[in-house]
Amino acid sequence: MNKIENILKIKEYDKFKCIADKCNFTCCTGWDINVDTKTYNKWRENKDLKYLLDNVRFIKGHGKNKFLIKKETNGVCPFLSNEGLCNIVTDHGDEYLSLTCRSFPRIENDFEDVKELTLSCSCPEVVNIISHMEEKIYIESNNSLSYIEDLGCLKIRESLVNILQKEDIRIENKLILSYDMLFNMLDNDDLTYENLIEFLDNYKSKNYIKEELNKYKDYENKDTIEYLKEVNSLFIDIIENYRNVPSFKEALKDIYKFTEEINIEKFVKNWKEFKDLFKEYDNLIENCIVSKVLSSCVSDDLEEMIISFEMIILEYLLIRHAVFLRYYINIKKEISIQDVKDYIVIFSRIIGNNSEAVIEFLLDMYESEILEFDYICSLILI
Ligand code: SF4
Repeated sequence: MNKIENILKIKEYDKFKCIADKCNFTCCTGWDINVDTKTYNKWRENKDLKYLLDNVRFIKGHGKNKFLIKKETNGVCPFLSNEGLCNIVTDHGDEYLSLTCRSFPRIENDFEDVKELTLSCSCPEVVNIISHMEEKIYIESNNSLSYIEDLGCLKIRESLVNILQKEDIRIENKLILSYDMLFNMLDNDDLTYENLIEFLDNYKSKNYIKEELNKYKDYENKDTIEYLKEVNSLFIDIIENYRNVPSFKEALKDIYKFTEEINIEKFVKNWKEFKDLFKEYDNLIENCIVSKVLSSCVSDDLEEMIISFEMIILEYLLIRHAVFLRYYINIKKEISIQDVKDYIVIFSRIIGNNSEAVIEFLLDMYESEILEFDYICSLILI
């Protein structure tokens, strides 16, 4: 195992401080909370802590067994007090928290002798910090480190970030371009490292990008009503199990009710107007997407990389649809930044933090965990 000698942090990493009981989205709801073996043993071996095990369940997995806090995925943690504080911390101290709770929303990825520290957009305070950033997000790096050059997956991640941070291209097109790049690699799975670098270099050329973007023009002329209906059904299917999560209820209740009564043909005329207004949040959304790419698109298995990126696209589609519904039911037809930030947090949790459940859903619905490029393209470019 390599000794970690360099710790690199995402921009503004040190600004993060949990706002605890002032948080509207306590991190104890909306996903399964894992108890790592070290913490499980600490609880088991201490007679004052043994009672905590009454709230732990054992899951037999494929090759890997897990301990989870006994709660429904969309339920509240049994250790959360009415004041929104964690009883484990107040009664015993945060050294007895499981790794998941202790580290959230911090994410660590190790590469050779480098540890990268990033932050999850599932925490509202993180999204708040990102919303105040004027520049593009990045990992503060030491130029003398060559770890990115050594690993193909990090070169791919670097290209994704470069595409996503290009100026003068709409975020939808940048998502499609990035997804297309990953699919093209999948079709050429025998790429050597040299071929890979050569392939990725294409995406540095303005002309190459222009030609690629021209290929997507046809998708923009597809039937808007049909694909808006498709996004709406996807939205209903995915939020069905989460709309009663206490901290999501307020934000999802009325838009969910609206989706059931909605007449897509009638509201399609507001779609273009909405998309023009939504552009104002491209920078915030781009920085959140890049921060997710930096923390989750790190697998050296290309299919896993594609699935991670697909989750980011699904989050984007659902955030955009939720903000659209909220805009539509707002008499003044305005978009509030707070709504955009709230939906970023909600869908980061529903999709990003429950990716195993989402993959199962995709398998049930589409018989594949990787959705077809044409389909994704049509949904994004409505
Ligand atoms: S979601 Fe973030 S701000 Fe809220 S309680 Fe958790 S760590 Fe703190």
